Amino acid sequence: MTDYQSLGLRPLINAYATMTKFGGSLMPPEVLEAMNEAATAFVDLQQLQRRVGERIAELTRNDAAYVTSGAAAGIVLASAAAVLYKRPEALKRFPDIADLNHEAIIFKSQRNPYDYAIYQTGLKYREIDAAPAALRAAISEQTACIFWFHGALVRADDMPLAQLIDIAAEHDIPVIVDAAAQLPPVENLWRFTEMGAALALFSGGKDLRGPQSSGLMLGRRDLIEAIRPISNPNHGLGRPLKVGKEEMMGALAAVERYLSLDHSARERYCEETVRLFCAALEPLPGVRAERAFPNEAGQPLPRCRVIIDSAVLGKSADDFVAAFLAREPAIAVAPDSDASFYLNPMTLNPGEELIVRDACLRLLRIP
Ligand SMILES: *Cc1c(COP(=O)(O)O)cnc(C)c1O
Repeated sequence: MTDYQSLGLRPLINAYATMTKFGGSLMPPEVLEAMNEAATAFVDLQQLQRRVGERIAELTRNDAAYVTSGAAAGIVLASAAAVLYKRPEALKRFPDIADLNHEAIIFKSQRNPYDYAIYQTGLKYREIDAAPAALRAAISEQTACIFWFHGALVRADDMPLAQLIDIAAEHDIPVIVDAAAQLPPVENLWRFTEMGAALALFSGGKDLRGPQSSGLMLGRRDLIEAIRPISNPNHGLGRPLKVGKEEMMGALAAVERYLSLDHSARERYCEETVRLFCAALEPLPGVRAERAFPNEAGQPLPRCRVIIDSAVLGKSADDFVAAFLAREPAIAVAPDSDASFYLNPMTLNPGEELIVRDACLRLLRIP
């Protein structure tokens, strides 16, 4: 039997988040069945990408859709699309595009580790303050696109996305929204593009629970058409970002499932689980537990913040995070600070909330 145990690895309970480093999310039966079925027959991959894209576009109320090998791959392809749709001569030139429109405008405050995917295409960052005057001053013949990283990086006093889209439209510059972890709410699948963003990028392997190496690019048809010639199975910048027939069908099944989910029941489960954790932990000496909302990605789901007094308990929060991983079964919780960590219900399987609660009661007691 080929399983994790046969490699000497232990599966873990995920009370952290849809973290890629722990496997992201788990695929439900509908997704696995679609992938299994896809794995049994050959098909024309480009026709499949087209048909799956049309279906996903219809389901998500977008003009067009494309399955990528993840949201980070989506950033690469969207960056390329922003150059290519005006300058098809760039097809086989990435990343050597310094003489073309090669600047990606990005807010200084939104710089983050994922934005390297812009740079690797040959685009250069044009970092600006998150204000209309700075945006107007930065837009030029060199501008390929403007990036917006939705979620926790957006600050209350940044210019709003709607205003950014308006200014970009005056200059015919595509706005690309990285919304990798912005599900739920499900409406985000159409919200950004209905606002006028040219493309919105999502992870297939986070809350959608599609294949880990899948993602969605949703939005303008002309931009999506522009990347087909450089995307797998064609050669060019996108060839290493291969999406298989199984991932395409799995991503489609994941979108169909996500749209039919009872999202309010799911929200109730998360709220109840946070209450369960808080009620169990609050009485322990040296421990406080509170509901935290929204979560780290800005998703409208609660977490339980556990605050520990290390003078009472004799250990730091990091020690506890390590102790959760060392126990059997291992539990990944989300580190926060010297004095706190989070328990996140969104990636728990039904029933695991009790294992997590009992592990907390055992580990967080004064020795
Ligand atoms: C997770 C994430 C990504 C990368 O998504 P993948 O599907 O793992 O490639 C990109 N941007 C942000 C903001 C993310 O949270």
